[in-house]
Amino acid sequence: MKFGSFEIETISDGTFALDGGAIFSVVPRVLWERHFAPDERNRIRLGLNSLLVRTPRENILIDTGIGRKWDERSRDRYGVADETDLLAELGKRGIAAEEIDYVINTHLHFDHAGTNTVERDGRPVPAFPRARYVVQKGELEHAFSPHERDRASYISADFEPVAEAGQFDLIDGEAEVVPGVRVLKVAGHNRDLQCVRVDSEGETAFFFADLLPTTAHVQPAWVMSYDLYPVETLEQKKRLVPLALAENWVCAFYHDPHVPLGRLHKDGSRIGVTPWGGNP
Ligand SMILES: [Zn+2]
Repeated sequence: MKFGSFEIETISDGTFALDGGAIFSVVPRVLWERHFAPDERNRIRLGLNSLLVRTPRENILIDTGIGRKWDERSRDRYGVADETDLLAELGKRGIAAEEIDYVINTHLHFDHAGTNTVERDGRPVPAFPRARYVVQKGELEHAFSPHERDRASYISADFEPVAEAGQFDLIDGEAEVVPGVRVLKVAGHNRDLQCVRVDSEGETAFFFADLLPTTAHVQPAWVMSYDLYPVETLEQKKRLVPLALAENWVCAFYHDPHVPLGRLHKDGSRIGVTPWGGNP
């Protein structure tokens, strides 16, 4: 889909499922179940909507889905379903793994860094052999030594092989990856989450990652209980959502199962989302 002089497109890695209560935290089920019907284990289905940004020179992939390095027990626990596969979806568009120049990891949780690596001859190796992998320095450090609260969110096979291959570019704060593509550290979900801002010819797209995981999370109080610093998430939303409205950004919702990309509008006292550009 044309976006200024760039093209942007959602590349889906299928879906998985997490506990609905954990996704909506203080919001009672009677409210969230209108938007997301839970399964018999109280889980809701979530998207894994990576974003491909093609500039005239580079191919950039933002987050890499949940990957395929899963055993049956974990697949069942997280409801991992393979409706689509990130690498196959890239292939359908004529893009080989070798042609990805940059992978931007918003953070290194397993549902955002899963296809950072693939298994070859029984061991994980970087999936994108020529790519620089861009992540916040503090996030990589934390991934190597998580605490009890978020240990379950990191799988070392997603990032250790990338570190061993010397393919990480570590950022501290804000940086321009290529002209028109910037990363910004936005604490809340964790200390070192980074969002991605894409600007081309007056258009702005913003990859919110787990700051706004689904369209329902656009409402200020809808904050995941996975967040380590939920009040900081709230503050960042109150800063960025009005900007997205005022400047008509195309917003990327990584975990929304139906609306990966949309623009915001006022809907009375609430904020509505209009899908942008059709389905992946
Ligand atoms: Zn996530």
